[in-house]
Amino acid sequence: MQIKSSARDVETTIVILDSRIRNLNNVPYTAGEVLYWMSRDQRVQDNWALIAAQEFASEHGVSLCVSYVLDNHHSAAQDRQMRFIFEGLREVEQGLLALGIPFAVLRGDPETQTENFARLNDIGVIFTDFSPLRTSRSIKEKLVATCEIPIYEVDAHNIIPCWIASPKQEVGAYTLRSKIAKLEFRYLDEFPALAHQEKSWTKTLEPIDWDRLRSEIGLTQASHKARWFASGESHAHAALADFASCRLHGYSVTRNIPGQHGQSELSPYLHFGQIAPQRVALAVLNTNAPAPDKDSFLDELIVRRELADNFCHYNANYDALTAAPMWAQQSLAEHAGDVRDFVYTREEFENALTHDPLWNAAQREMVFRGKMHGYMRMYWAKKILEWTENAESALEIAIFLNDKYSLDGCDPNGYSNILWSVAGLHDRPWFERPVYGKIRYMNYNGCKRKFDIDAYIRYVDSFEGEPAGQIAMAFES
Ligand code: FAD
Repeated sequence: MQIKSSARDVETTIVILDSRIRNLNNVPYTAGEVLYWMSRDQRVQDNWALIAAQEFASEHGVSLCVSYVLDNHHSAAQDRQMRFIFEGLREVEQGLLALGIPFAVLRGDPETQTENFARLNDIGVIFTDFSPLRTSRSIKEKLVATCEIPIYEVDAHNIIPCWIASPKQEVGAYTLRSKIAKLEFRYLDEFPALAHQEKSWTKTLEPIDWDRLRSEIGLTQASHKARWFASGESHAHAALADFASCRLHGYSVTRNIPGQHGQSELSPYLHFGQIAPQRVALAVLNTNAPAPDKDSFLDELIVRRELADNFCHYNANYDALTAAPMWAQQSLAEHAGDVRDFVYTREEFENALTHDPLWNAAQREMVFRGKMHGYMRMYWAKKILEWTENAESALEIAIFLNDKYSLDGCDPNGYSNILWSVAGLHDRPWFERPVYGKIRYMNYNGCKRKFDIDAYIRYVDSFEGEPAGQIAMAFES
């Protein structure tokens, strides 16, 4: 593959791009157009899967089109995320049109729709992006089982392709960090530009009827919109520019103060692939913010985020207690019978009805804003462990709520961090105590020493006037 890059010689760039690509079925390409079936990385700019697909099309003198499949099976609980996807795709269409690349939005089972689309449009090769999560893996496995054309998977999400960064599940950030440090200089480079597609697409594609699609998937104008986050590639870039110029300075301290808007707020955009982590890293490196702030941010963005993909890629049980380290599983089992001071049901947690105003505020922040502050997420998950009957229930409740309400939910970051909080993943044993066993502990007084709890609660209160008991209903209405 020939990629034109101004930043380094062509040969090195080819090797780097090739290392991002895996052939999923070992079927050789014979003839036909190129399809990029977009899934996790919902953007036009800085998208290695699109770059690879376009390069393949140009090498073989054929044309490229892009598809996205809106799955029929999204639950009502995920309407908030569905809306974010939907609005982002409208911008994807505009970006592709400007490059002369046709775009199709299909509906139904991704594997069936992709295969049918390929057959009807004389597609000879499929490119898709990479996700370590089970749903994506199983769709691809089904597609591979029936599809007779080559399927290439491109890691367009990680700066260092997941399978290159490490061949195994890493113990923790400290083991992955050193591997990433050795590879980073090869991968952290400018993206090649996409070319305007000159060869025209010969098949007829129906223009996308966005209004019809919206009603078919059940999105009304009012439904489940997460305020505070406008969806789409351009909004993602605006959020990055705002963070890099106004808030990166001081990040290493302010990121841990709930209510102070010290984080980048990029996770919804990163989760839906509306911005490339590599673009974010390059932008941050190009600022003149103090080194400790840049280092702290890049460690979260690169090491911690890519550690989560590493975990889910190499551990298929990423959302189960059995994926926790053995010392943690044993310790939690030893403390399974400990008396809990409080035990709440999932509904009580969901409606923010615990005795703890700080925990309730965190839950309400997630429900109203579609995102909870990073520091509060740790406290929130650890208290669910403390106030449920057992660690299995705690894990289940935390994942359910996070995936339902967080715009960045259903993400490797969520599964790995919830397991970190509840079951010691990527962590070490701490002093033993009731219920937690050797799992790292957090408490209200620790938060009180660290930040102004009342100010945080006031900040959350300012979102909405609804009483806590109405939260879930407010969301559903
Ligand atoms: P910033 O502090 O600005 O960080 C920038 C980016 O770095 C983030 O967007 C994220 O991609 C990455 N990052 C930051 N912290 C972490 C971390 N601890 N682990 C992995 N990557 C990190 N993150 C999600 O993206 N989705 C989730 O569903 C999610 N659930 C979580 C649940 C719990 C219980 C905990 C403790 C953490 C969770 N996180 C999750 C990780 C982290 O809290 C969020 O990534 C971060 O708060 C997102 O806000 P931001 O983009 O403003 O973060």
